[in-house]
Amino acid sequence: MRYDVIIIGAGIAGLYAAMKLPKDKKVLVINKRETFKCNTFYAQGGVALARDKDDIPAHIKDTLEAGDGLCDEEAVKILSENSIEAIDDLIKNGFEFDHDENRKLLYTKEAAHSCERILHAGGDATGRYLHHFLLEHNPHAMLSDTRVVDLLIKSGECYGVTVLDHRQCRNIYAKNVIIASGGVGSLYEYHTNAPCISADMQGLCLMKGIELERMEMLQFHPTVFVDSKNAQKMLLTEALRGEGATIEDENGKRFLFEYDERGELASRDIVSKSMYEYKKKTGMQLYLAFNNFDEKYFEERFPNICKNLRALGFNVPSQRVPISPAFHYAIGGIKSDLKGRVPNVKNLYAIGEVASTRVHGANRLASNSLLEGLVFAKEAALDIIKSSGKKEFIEFGITDEVMSLKEDKAKKNQLRRIMWENVSIIRTKSGLNDALSSINVLLNEKIGRLLKFRLLTAKEIVISALSRKESVGVHTRLEE
Ligand SMILES: Cc1cc2nc3c(=O)[nH]c(=O)nc-3n(C[C@H](O)[C@H](O)[C@H](O)COP(=O)(O)OP(=O)(O)OC[C@H]3O[C@@H](n4cnc5c(N)ncnc54)[C@H](O)[C@@H]3O)c2cc1C
Repeated sequence: MRYDVIIIGAGIAGLYAAMKLPKDKKVLVINKRETFKCNTFYAQGGVALARDKDDIPAHIKDTLEAGDGLCDEEAVKILSENSIEAIDDLIKNGFEFDHDENRKLLYTKEAAHSCERILHAGGDATGRYLHHFLLEHNPHAMLSDTRVVDLLIKSGECYGVTVLDHRQCRNIYAKNVIIASGGVGSLYEYHTNAPCISADMQGLCLMKGIELERMEMLQFHPTVFVDSKNAQKMLLTEALRGEGATIEDENGKRFLFEYDERGELASRDIVSKSMYEYKKKTGMQLYLAFNNFDEKYFEERFPNICKNLRALGFNVPSQRVPISPAFHYAIGGIKSDLKGRVPNVKNLYAIGEVASTRVHGANRLASNSLLEGLVFAKEAALDIIKSSGKKEFIEFGITDEVMSLKEDKAKKNQLRRIMWENVSIIRTKSGLNDALSSINVLLNEKIGRLLKFRLLTAKEIVISALSRKESVGVHTRLEE
C-alpha cells in the first residue's frame, strides 16, 4: 500500500490538513479509536481569531504576553495573520458559528484576551460541531481503530508507518507522513483529554531520536469538575468565567483577587496556581458559581454544560459546583518548523497539539489551539503540495516488540499518579527527582512497547522540568 500522504490523527489538525490536500492525492487519515475520540471533539469554548486587520497587533500582543517571553514571534505572526482567512474558509465551506438573528457573528471573551474575539458553535459545543464538519469535508480515505506504532525512517527520510490493526502489525508506505496525534493527557491521573490521547507519537519520536522540546510546558485547566471515577474529567469552559462565573471558597469568598487584580479573568495558569495555593493554605473545597447568569441565557449559551451538571444533580445556574484544576494541554511537543516540517527527517511533519512551533511560548492563550491546528495544518499541506515529486521506496521489516503485557495496566495507573503528584502545577527538585527514579524503575522492567511510549514521554517531561530551574509561564518551580 503506497500513499502520497499518511496523516496520523483525525482531530482538527489532521482533518484540516486532509481537507487542504487535493482529491487527486492519495491520502490516508489514520486514527486510533472511534473517530470522535480526540481532544478536538471535546473543545467547548471556541476558536480565537483576530477580529479584523486592525485587531491583528492586539491578538499578537495578547498571545505574546500569555507566552511569557518564550513565544516565537514569527510563529505568532503567522497564527494571527492567517486567522481570518482560516475562519473565512470554514464559513465559506458551510460551517456555522453562532450568530444573532441578523447573522452577525457572536464573539465571546476568554481569560487574558483584550477583547471579545472568540467564535463558538452550538453554544459550548464548538469542538463537536467543528469535528463533525471536518469529517464531512474530508475527501480522503480513513482508517479508524488503528494505532500507529512505528515510523519507517532510514537515513533521515520517512517512508511510512507501522500500524497495529486488529492485533496485527503491518507497514503502510507514503511519500510524506504528517503526525497530528494530539497531546499527552492520559499520562495524568486527572485530565480533561480524550482517553486515547496518550503520548504514543511523542514516545515513538524519542525512540527514533527525534527531538521534542518544551515538554515541561503543560497547561492545567482551573475549572474542572473532578468528582467522577474516570481519569477524563468534565471541563467547565473558560468562557463561563469570561461571561461572569466566579470562583469562591466554601464561605462564598472570591479569593482570586488576593493573587491577581484580574481575579477570574487572569490567565489560566495564574488561576490554577492561585487555587492550588489557596486550597493548600485553607484546606477548603473550591467552587464555580454562576449567580451572575440569567437562567434562560445560561441554558441557551451553555446547553451541554447545563444539561450535564443538572444530570449530576446540580441545579445550575443557581447552585455552585465543586471544582479543581486538572491537566489540560501540552504546549511542548515534536520540534517542527513553521511549515510543520520535522528537522532532520525528510518528508515528516508534525502539526497541532503534538507539535512545538513555539507559538504558545510558556503559556497558551485561551482558544488559540484550535486556531493553531487550522493554520499550521494548511502550512504543512501547502508545503507537501509544493514539494511533492517522485520517491524511491524501500522495504522495512516490522517491529517484533511485544505491544502490551497484562501487568502494564497497573503500571500505567502508577505512572498517572506519579505525574499528578510530582509533575503537575507546582514542581520541586525533590519531587521531580522522585518521579524520575520511579519512571526509570518502570522503564527497566519488562513492559510492552505502548507503555514504553508513555514512560519515555513522561521521562522527557520530567527531565525538561528539572532543567528549567526558573518559574516561567505554566512552569512553576519551588526550591525544595
Ligand atoms: C475538554 C477540552 C476543551 C478544549 N477547549 C478548547 C477550546 O475551546 N478552544 C481551543 O482552541 N482549544 C481547546 N482545547 C484544546 C484543543 O481542543 C486541542 O488542542 C486540539 O483539538 C488538538 O487538536 P489535534 O488535531 O492536534 O489533536 P486531537 O484533536 O486530540 O486529535 C488527535 C488524533 O490523533 C489520533 N491518535 C493519537 N495517537 C495515535 C496513534 N498512535 N495512532 C493513530 N492515531 C493516533 C487520535 O485518535 C485523534 O484522532 C480543549 C481541549 C480539551 C481536552
